Amino acid sequence: MKKIITIGEIVVEIMAVETGNGFRSAIPLIGPFASGAPAIFIDQAAKLGQPCGIVSTVGNDDFGALNVERLRNDGADVSAIAVHPTAATGSAFVRYRQDGNRDFIFNIKHSACSAIGLTPAAEALVETADHLHIMGSALFSDGIVAAIHEATRRIKAKGGTVSFDPNIRKEMLELPGMREALGHALENTDLFMPSGAEIFLFTKATDEKVAVAELLARGIKAVVIKRGAEGASYFDASGATLAPAFKVEEVDPTGAGDSFGAAFVTCWLRGMAADKALVIANATGARAVGVKGPMEGTSSMAEIEAFLAARNLSGV
Ligand code: ADP
Repeated sequence: MKKIITIGEIVVEIMAVETGNGFRSAIPLIGPFASGAPAIFIDQAAKLGQPCGIVSTVGNDDFGALNVERLRNDGADVSAIAVHPTAATGSAFVRYRQDGNRDFIFNIKHSACSAIGLTPAAEALVETADHLHIMGSALFSDGIVAAIHEATRRIKAKGGTVSFDPNIRKEMLELPGMREALGHALENTDLFMPSGAEIFLFTKATDEKVAVAELLARGIKAVVIKRGAEGASYFDASGATLAPAFKVEEVDPTGAGDSFGAAFVTCWLRGMAADKALVIANATGARAVGVKGPMEGTSSMAEIEAFLAARNLSGV
C-alpha cells in the first residue's frame, strides 16, 4: 500500500463548553484535545489502515505526549515527530458563537512546531513515502515551507504524487511569502482539494467551471471541491461527479475537511473510482462533524462501513 506523509503543525485544542463571544471572562473549557490540521489528516489516514506518517515538532510536555501517543495508537508513523527541548507544544483556544462562527486564540507560530524541519528522521520518513499531502495552514514559517519544498522535490523525483488542501485562514494570506508558497504547492499538485470559494484564490476566473478547467489545463490531474453540508464534487479530464453530503446533526465542524481529505486521498491512492471515493469521504466528513473535538470524530473503515450500511449503502 502507498505511504502518505504530511508536514505541519501538531497542537492541542481547548474548547469553550458554551457558545458565546471570546474569552474575556472565566468560562468552562474542555480539552486538551489532540489537534492541528495535518495531525487530524494523518490520524484519519492511519485509522483507515493506510501507511502514513507526519513530520512535526512538539514540546517536551504533556500536550506533545498526548498527541504523539494518540497518533501512534491509531497507527501513524511518529518517528519524524521531533521533541523540542525548550518550546512548548502549540495550542488553539476556540469558542463557537451563536451564529456558528468561531473565535480563536492561537499559540502556534512561536511554539515547538515553528521549528519543524527536515531532520534526519524526517528525511528517512520522506524516503519511505509515496505521497505528500500539503496543507496551507502549515505554511506559516520559512523553515516549514523549505521542508515542504524539499519533500515535494524528493517525492516527485521518485514518481510519487502530491495532494494539496489550501486550508487557509484569511489572515494567513497576508503573511510574507504565503502566496508564493501556495503557488508552489499548486504547481506540484496532482490532486487539489479546496473548500468552496477557496479555488478562486488560485485563478482569475470567477466561474467555478472555468476555474476548474483552467487548473486541469495547468496539469492538475483532479480537483475535489469540499462543500460542507452540500457534500463534495470531483473533476478530472473525463468529467465531473457531485456527491451530496449525508444528513447529520452538525455538532462541531472542526476537523471535517481534514478527515474528508484523508479519506479521499486514501481511496484515490487505492485506485478507487471517484464516485465511490466521494461517498466514503463524505461519510468520513459527516461522522467528523457529529462529534465534539477536532480529532475525536475520525473513523475506522469498519465505522464508515457501518455508517453506510445503516443508510443502505455499501461503500467498498
Ligand atoms: P473544510 O472544513 O475544509 O472547509 P467542509 O466544511 O467542506 O471542509 O467539510 C468537509 C466535508 O465534510 C464535506 O465535503 C462533507 O462531506 C462533510 N461535511 C461538512 N459539514 C457537514 C454537515 N453539516 N453535514 C454533513 N456532512 C458535512
